[in-house]
Amino acid sequence: MIKRLDLVRDRIGRAAGRSGRGQDAVTLVAVAKTVPAETIVAALNLGIRDLGENRVQEAEEKIFRVRSAPGGGQARWHLIGHLQRNKAARAVGAFDRVHGVDGLELAAALSRHAVAASRVLPVMIEVNVMGVASQFGVAPDEIEPLVRAVSELPGLALDGLMTVGARPGRAEDSRPAFARLREMRDRVARASGVRLPELSMGMSGDFEVAIEEGSTMVRVGAAIFGGRTSRA
Ligand SMILES: *Cc1c(COP(=O)(O)O)cnc(C)c1O
Repeated sequence: MIKRLDLVRDRIGRAAGRSGRGQDAVTLVAVAKTVPAETIVAALNLGIRDLGENRVQEAEEKIFRVRSAPGGGQARWHLIGHLQRNKAARAVGAFDRVHGVDGLELAAALSRHAVAASRVLPVMIEVNVMGVASQFGVAPDEIEPLVRAVSELPGLALDGLMTVGARPGRAEDSRPAFARLREMRDRVARASGVRLPELSMGMSGDFEVAIEEGSTMVRVGAAIFGGRTSRA
């Protein structure tokens, strides 16, 4: 894992440089959805701090096990997958950030549970930039009203947008969607007055392209942990 992680960090640093930024402008979220708790603890020992999981139920037990391991409390947990409204309470209980808010009802449920827990939960809105049928997220013309509404909700700190690139495919296939998400962010932030500094985009297959297009959070699983051949 250490070799793969070093390589990923090096590639992030170079891509950040090409976008005129430093390596620390990009948060590496290590996607651990298929990885056992012991491997996650080992990753924390290698300096990983941000971990991504895509299913609440499967993550809960792992998060509990990692948190009770030595040093395990340093991890920040990102929910990167689709979230159903009826799991909002558990998501608030287990996670430090939710990447994929895709509707006002889900946002309202997260808000309610965050307020009940006396927490402020950072969230991002997921956008289906290209209108791909198999992808989650709101349509581009729904971003601005949703940004305005979610930014008013107590207990949530909306600070960015998230998307999934083209797949399967070559990294360059994702570039148009990443560039467009950044443009949409710029436009919506200007129109709404809501600051949206974060852009969660880029996975193992396309994180360098995403960083070149302005990503501030890359969600990388297979390139760090190996194993999975499919990117699904
Ligand atoms: C699995 C997953 C990732 C990471 O994919 P890799 O190809 O393993 O890097 C990123 N984002 C989401 C939403 C995922 O479900």
